[in-house]
Amino acid sequence: MEQRPVPGRTGGAPPRSAPEEPPADVRRRIPRTDALLRDPRLAAAVDRLGAHRVKAAVRQAQERARAGAIPPEQVPQTALDLLPGTASGLRPVINATGVLLHTNLGRAALSAAARQAVREAAGPTDVELDLTTGVRARRGRSALAALHARMPAARAAHVVNNGAAALVLAATALAAGKEIVVSRGEMVEIGDGFRLPDLLVSTGARLREVGTTNRTTPADYAAVTGPDTGFVLKVHPSNFRITGFTRSAEVAELTGLGVPVVVDIGSGLLAPHPALPEEPDADTQLRAGAALVTASGDKLLGGPQCGLLLGRADLVRALARHPLARALRVDKLTLAALEATLTGPPTPTALALTAGPDALRARAERLAAALAADGIDVRAAGSAATVGGGGAPGVTLPSAALSLPEPYAAALRTGPVPVVGRLEAGRCLLDLRAVPPEDDDRLAEAVRSARATAEGRA
Ligand SMILES: *Cc1c(COP(=O)(O)O)cnc(C)c1O
Repeated sequence: MEQRPVPGRTGGAPPRSAPEEPPADVRRRIPRTDALLRDPRLAAAVDRLGAHRVKAAVRQAQERARAGAIPPEQVPQTALDLLPGTASGLRPVINATGVLLHTNLGRAALSAAARQAVREAAGPTDVELDLTTGVRARRGRSALAALHARMPAARAAHVVNNGAAALVLAATALAAGKEIVVSRGEMVEIGDGFRLPDLLVSTGARLREVGTTNRTTPADYAAVTGPDTGFVLKVHPSNFRITGFTRSAEVAELTGLGVPVVVDIGSGLLAPHPALPEEPDADTQLRAGAALVTASGDKLLGGPQCGLLLGRADLVRALARHPLARALRVDKLTLAALEATLTGPPTPTALALTAGPDALRARAERLAAALAADGIDVRAAGSAATVGGGGAPGVTLPSAALSLPEPYAAALRTGPVPVVGRLEAGRCLLDLRAVPPEDDDRLAEAVRSARATAEGRA
C-alpha cells in the first residue's frame, strides 16, 4: 500500500481532473514527516494506533498538498482526519435495530463492570497462579466460583469458547463411537448454515433420531436407549416455534432411562425470566434432573462469547480433562468478563429486556422533539423489538423508535458514530430498546451529522 505509485508522479499523464501542481515555494512549505510526528496530536496517535498507520496518513496528507488539493497548513489536520478512530477494524456501533442480541453486531453488549474487568485482565494476571502460595492454581477458578454461586443446582461448571464448543466437547467426551438420542423436532439449524446435527456427527458420535417433527414422547426415547447410548440430548428450538398438535418430552420424563440427559438451552438464562416465560433456564433444567446443561454466554446471560457446561461433577470433570478441552478453552479476557457479568450490576441485555414501554416512549419523544426543533423530518413511533440471537422466538417486546426518512439508514450506518437501525414501511426506524439511555445524546448527534448525507446535500 505504501509503495502504490502516485498518479501523475510516476511519469504517466496526470489524471485530467487533477488540480494544478502548486508552485515550488508552496511545496516547500509542506511540513516534513519528522516535524509532523512531533505534533502532539499525531504523537498521541502514534501511541494509540502505531507509527505505521500514522506515517501512512501523514504521507497521504503530504501527497494531497503536493498535488495542490489542500494548502500546506492543512497537512497536520488532514493527517489526523485520515486516521482510523480505533486500533482494530472493529468499530463501536449503536444498536438501534430493536434486536437485543444482534448476531451481526456481536450479540450481548458487555456491562461497564465486565468492560473494566477485561481491561484489568489484559496485562499479566493470576489466571492460573495462586499468589499466596506461589503455585499453579486452577485456571479461571474465580469465574467458576461465581458461576457456582449463581447456580447452586450445578455441582460443577466448565467454560469453553462458545455454545457450539460446549456441545462438541460433551459429544466427544461422552458419546464418541456411541449414539446421541435426539428428537426429530429438535434437529435445528441455528443460523448462517450452522446445523447442530452436523456438528454432533462431526465428533464421531452417531445420531439416533426419535419421534417426528411435531411429536416425540418419552416412550420414543425409551425404545432406543441402551448400552450403546452416550446420552439423550434435548435441544431448545431457540429460533422457531412449532404450534398445534405437538408433544415433546420434558427432562423429568427422561431421567429414568439410565443415561445422562444433556440439555442445550442455548440462551444462557440461569433462572426463569418473567418477561420470557417460554425460555428454558439452566436452574429449572438441572432441578428437573438434567445431567448437563449447555448454553452460550453472549445471549441472554449478557456476557462475553463463551459456552457454559453446568451439571454433574463427574461428567464435568470428564469433559474438563478430555484432551479436546484444551483446544476449546477460553482466554483470560473472557473469564474476566464472565465473572464480572455474573457478579456485577444488571447487564445491558437485562436492562434492555426489562425497560418499560412508557420510559422508552418518553425517550423517543424527547429525542424527536429536540431533533425536529433543528428542522429534521423525525417523529416518535411505536415499535416492536425482539430478543434475537437465537432466543425467545415469537416474543415481541413493545418498544419506541425514532422514525426518519429512509435515506437516513445508510447515512447513519456510515457516519462517524455508526448507528444501525431498521427499515420498515419506507422509514428508517431507530428502536431505543437496545440503546442504553446514556447513549441518547450520542444517538441524537449521529442523526444530526447524518442529515446532510441523508438529504442528499453531501
Ligand atoms: C445459539 C445456540 C447454540 C450455539 O451457541 P453459540 O454460542 O452460538 O456457539 C446452540 N444451541 C442453541 C439451542 C442455541 O440457541
